[in-house]
This record gives sequence, structure tokens and C-alpha cells, in this order.
Amino acid sequence: MLARFRPTELFRVNILAVEELARYCTGYFMAALNLASATLAVFLSSACFVALNPSGFEARQAPGAPHVPVHVQRGDAVQEHYDDYTKRLHAYYESLVDALQSGAPELLPIVEPPNPLQHGYQILPNIVADPEPLARPPRGRSAQYSWPWTDHLIDRAASELGRSARALKRASSLEPKMRQMAYQQLAVRYRQIHEQQQNIDAHIQYNQLWQGAIAANRSKYESESVLHDRVLKHQEVLEVFNARYATALTSAHGTISQVVMTSLNEFSSGLIERKNRLAREIDAAKDLFYATPGYVRVEQQISNWIIHVPFYTDIQDDAFVQSAKRAMEDTWHLRSGEDDFRVQLHFSYVSPEHLYGTDKTPQNGERMNIRTHLDHFPADRAILTTGARTTHVDGRAIILGPHDIARGVLAHELGHVLGFRDAYFRGYKDLAEDGFQVLEIVADSNDIMGAPATGAVLRRHFEKLISVRRGQQ
Ligand SMILES: [Zn+2]
Repeated sequence: MLARFRPTELFRVNILAVEELARYCTGYFMAALNLASATLAVFLSSACFVALNPSGFEARQAPGAPHVPVHVQRGDAVQEHYDDYTKRLHAYYESLVDALQSGAPELLPIVEPPNPLQHGYQILPNIVADPEPLARPPRGRSAQYSWPWTDHLIDRAASELGRSARALKRASSLEPKMRQMAYQQLAVRYRQIHEQQQNIDAHIQYNQLWQGAIAANRSKYESESVLHDRVLKHQEVLEVFNARYATALTSAHGTISQVVMTSLNEFSSGLIERKNRLAREIDAAKDLFYATPGYVRVEQQISNWIIHVPFYTDIQDDAFVQSAKRAMEDTWHLRSGEDDFRVQLHFSYVSPEHLYGTDKTPQNGERMNIRTHLDHFPADRAILTTGARTTHVDGRAIILGPHDIARGVLAHELGHVLGFRDAYFRGYKDLAEDGFQVLEIVADSNDIMGAPATGAVLRRHFEKLISVRRGQQ
């Protein structure tokens, strides 16, 4: 059971008492929050964030101080375990570099950490093509995160590190040709170990963030747990139905007779009904999280529907703004039956000098407090700006980071600005002294708000926008 986070997975970040602080739906990265400084600090990893089903490993017992919540105690123990591992990894790295310097300097670039991408004011991402669509949408799977599982990941990484360290010792006594081969393998393996470490780090930050959020608002996450379970059930019902259909098809050698089809339909009607009921419940729950922004305007010309969204931007590179506009508008365009639905974005450039007035204007490349920056924009439009560590949405603003961003991900972010939330649910299980297990599941992989890679803008998105506006008129 391995649920691998693809480049399109989403992370919506909430924290403690502050609802909806910001949404992180990054193309490629695990986003997390730095709780200590109470400012947004996003963890970036070139590795995919890998979530595995934690079964068949032992949980560690955390020493107990009564006044500290258990999930924090357990987290502290994991952090200690991780720090220990990181020290060993660092020592190994030094001995590997020493060995390569004297024995195979041409391999050094493999083990050198890549330069992290700089982020700051006016630093823009490349907008890249969407990945090829998958032949079949991925099965909805519950991803699970917990302290015991993170501990297990550290244990596993530590054993691998031990194996590498022993191989490095052995390599020094090999004859030159074999030694060269061993060094090559070790250099490549080090890269993998380094990526693993980033993944573990992301797990730690993820657990700190979400377990804290759960502890602070149990009832919210209890209702999300119910929705999470409903999506799983929905998936199961769908699978039973598909399996029966496939069995009927196989036993009929590829063609299903009318008689078999009729009995199959009768047999499955209960299932279909259940499936539809679950789907309606899930949709209704998703609607609960819709918030209408005041700046969205709907225009109708017979069967042409245009959703107008005015934006402020302080991005000086107009060609970039135009290509971002195209990426979002192309994705938010749907012909459905007689109807043509589209979103039209209207960008107004405001210069940094105009925004900041007598305040100090940020220099290009400067790192800045995003919240303060956003406060400089007038309140009546959406915002497209720069300066984030990783692209995310905060209220009406899309704040760009430096990493490549797929067109679909950008369009997904626009979905937030239009008022849609991420189409997935995050629930939890109480693991007693092990803290919480965080559970998350994509509600609908056909929906761009659930999965930008496999999902699309759907008719119901436009219908929602139109009906909300009508309700207000
Ligand atoms: Zn999102």
C-alpha cells in the first residue's frame, strides 16, 4: 500500500485558531508551517512527499510530562530521533566527500547539494505545460501520517545509512577499478538518502502542523473524518460495482447479453443508489466550504457565460502576466452542450511605488513579509503578486514562488480566488500516547480543485459561480 504524492497533490494549510490562513497547493512540494515563528515558512523538497500506510512496525513510547499535550511529546521524541539521524548523515557525508576528493573527484558534483532556488520580490516561476493525463484517474486512497510512521521512516533511513557507511569503508580496500564503481554507486545512493531525509523532514513538519491544528479544533476535524470515511466508502461501492461488471463481462466472453445485463443492473441498483447518495453528500459537504468573493462578476449572452475577475498585479514583467492570464483562462473554459462557459481575467498593473507610497518599496529579489505586502493593495480586486517561497493562495491573492508551475496548478489557484476550496478532506484518528493519525483523501479526482493533473474545471464549478451571483442579485 503506497500512496505516492504526485506533483499535483495539494496541501491546504490551516493553523490553530486562525482559519484559512493560506492555501498551499504547490505543484511539486510539501508545504508546511513554521509554528514557532508564527510566520509562514514553507518547506520545500525536491523529493516527492511520500506517504505510506503505517502498518507492521512498532510504535515508540514517549516519555511523559503531564502538562505537555501527548502529540507534542511524541513529536519531540521523533524530532530527537531525527536530529540524531541527521548528525549521523552529516558525518557520513563528510567521510564520503573525503573519499571522493582523493579517489574520484569527478563524482563530487553528484553529492553536492543543489543550489536552492532563491525566492523574493518580483521573482517569477516558469509556467510549464501540464503533465500528460493519466489513462485512468488514480484510485482515491487515504493517505495517513503519524508520529509512529515518521519514526519508522527514520529507522528505515538509518539502516540504509548504516549499509552505505559500511560499503564506504570496504571500498577503500578495493582495487582501483572496483573502488571506482563502488564510489559511483555510493554517490548515487547518497543523493537518494538526501532526498529521503527531505521527505522525513516534510513528514515532521506536516505532523507538527496538522496534529496541532487537530488538537486545537477537534470538532472541525471530527466532521472532516466523517467526510473522509464517506469518500472511502464511495470508492468501495464503486469498486464493487466495477468488479461485478468486469466479472459479468468475462463470463460472457466480452459481450453481455441483455438477460445478464438486466440482472446485473438489478443487482447493482442498490449499489448505484448508495453511490449516488454518497456522491451527493460529498458534494453538499464541499459546497459548505465555498465562499463568494465580491469582485467576481457574471455576464450572460444567451448561452455564453463569462465570469469576470478583476486583478491587481505589481508584476513588472508584462509578458509573464499575459502568459499566466492565458494559462488560467484556457483552463477555465468549458463548452458543455449548448453552453459556453469562460473566465476572463482583467489585470491592472500597479507599480510598487504607487502601492507603497511613502513606505519603503521592496527591492527586486528582496524577501519580505507577504502579509504586510498584501495589505498595500486596495481591497476591491484579486491580487497576483510575487515573493512567496512556494506558490500559494492567501485570501484573494495568488502569491508566486520561484518553482516551475504547471498551467493546471495555476488554474487551480485561480479556483481558490473564485471561492472554491480544495476538494479533499482531512480527518484523524486518536492514537492515544502516539498523538493523532492524520488522514486525507481527494474527494474527486476529476475535479481540478481535488487534483490539478487529472482533474478539470467542471460544469458544476461554473454553475456554482452563476447560482451564487444570482442569489445575490
Ligand atoms: Zn488548493
